[in-house]
Amino acid sequence: MKLDFDGIRLQAPFYDETHREWRDSVVRPFIDKEIVPHIEKWEKDGDIPLEVYQRAGEVGLFQTGYSEAYGGVTDGVDIFHALITGEELARPGAGGVAAALTVHSIALPPVINFGSEEMKKKVAPGVIKGTHHISLAITEPSGGSDVGNLKTTAKKDGDHFIINGSKTFITGGLKANWFTTAIRTGGEGIGGISLILIPADAKGVSRSSVGPKQGWICSDTATIYFENVRVPADQIIGKENEGFKIIVNNFNNERIGMAAGAVAYSRVCFEEAASWAKVRKTFGQPLSKHQVIRHKFAEMLRKINSTQAYMDICGWHIKNGTPNAADIAMLKVQATKTMEFCAREAMQIMGGISYVRECKTERIYREVRVMAIGGGSEEIMRDLACRQMEL
Ligand SMILES: Cc1cc2nc3c(=O)[nH]c(=O)nc-3n(C[C@H](O)[C@H](O)[C@H](O)COP(=O)(O)OP(=O)(O)OC[C@H]3O[C@@H](n4cnc5c(N)ncnc54)[C@H](O)[C@@H]3O)c2cc1C
Repeated sequence: MKLDFDGIRLQAPFYDETHREWRDSVVRPFIDKEIVPHIEKWEKDGDIPLEVYQRAGEVGLFQTGYSEAYGGVTDGVDIFHALITGEELARPGAGGVAAALTVHSIALPPVINFGSEEMKKKVAPGVIKGTHHISLAITEPSGGSDVGNLKTTAKKDGDHFIINGSKTFITGGLKANWFTTAIRTGGEGIGGISLILIPADAKGVSRSSVGPKQGWICSDTATIYFENVRVPADQIIGKENEGFKIIVNNFNNERIGMAAGAVAYSRVCFEEAASWAKVRKTFGQPLSKHQVIRHKFAEMLRKINSTQAYMDICGWHIKNGTPNAADIAMLKVQATKTMEFCAREAMQIMGGISYVRECKTERIYREVRVMAIGGGSEEIMRDLACRQMEL
């Protein structure tokens, strides 16, 4: 068994030749050529050049799962192609790249699935080509977990909404042309929330960076301010006051995508630690021959494999139209716990060398928390699962 990223991957019957071809002919070559050589510079700059999105668009990285009518590809495509994309984007061990390049995957689906035809035509083709950008704006300065209590408001004024409030921690927020925004259009609670598409260049929209971060450094993270922003009422996504359901369903794809990334980051940590442990000698023998160290590898792989299997089953349900939000929520916890464990154990195995920035595990260790908090924190995910269990 080769103890590298591919060699330790659990083989599952859900992946066929089309998934392998997608990985080997499209995603991996693009990442190796256009991303890997530039990561250190982008991390230093705290940004990814706009051309990279366009080049990703040209090879079709953003097409999968979106309708052909807007430049996407659905024919022969399923959730496992998206999971492969997430996995491969994690392989360089730089979460900021993955977050920045895939943010459309959480912001565009509500537009495609519930927007007007005119809205889809205006927004989707450019995003899929990588020439335009869209972000999902749910979290507010007053909190992100309790979506039902969000405070940004939209008041009707004839055939327009007037929007006031702010959003924060918005991935890609500085680049976005549009925001898929959760807004209170009605009364209190989840029954008063709608999704509205807000153009970033609308009068009254301003934005700033949240400032230096622990990880995801090359991905911009923004606070967005809305001050009396006038948006035509037909920019609503779905029906008025029925946005919460769209948001919740949208979370399923975001969470399984994050799980794919987390399992792949765990494999990166395993690979790096294994190649080190086989050559590094202590007390007269390679680290990999010390029982305490060997057990760390068995524990890592045990967690990686069980997480991958859980993820693939959740993926199979999504593919077959029977997604289970509780399982996907628990999967996200399982995946980020596995990533946390593997980042820790890999660093312990590698010792001091793991603490320098050229080591992928060093960055992955710094990016554990955003994976465990963003897109629904561990506490909120467990609570969601318990609610579905009717505990
Ligand atoms: C780098 C980054 C990128 C992000 N990108 C986006 C984005 O693109 N779009 C977007 O909308 N959001 C984004 N987020 C926001 C993210 O989704 C939120 O941070 C997350 O949902 C948690 O919200 P919060 O930070 O406001 O924490 P809070 O909601 O204030 O919660 C703080 C802590 O308390 C815990 N907690 C809260 N309520 C309970 C409870 N009832 N019981 C037990 N524990 C509880 C939470 O688990 C959390 O650990 C991003 C965040 C980061 C860090």
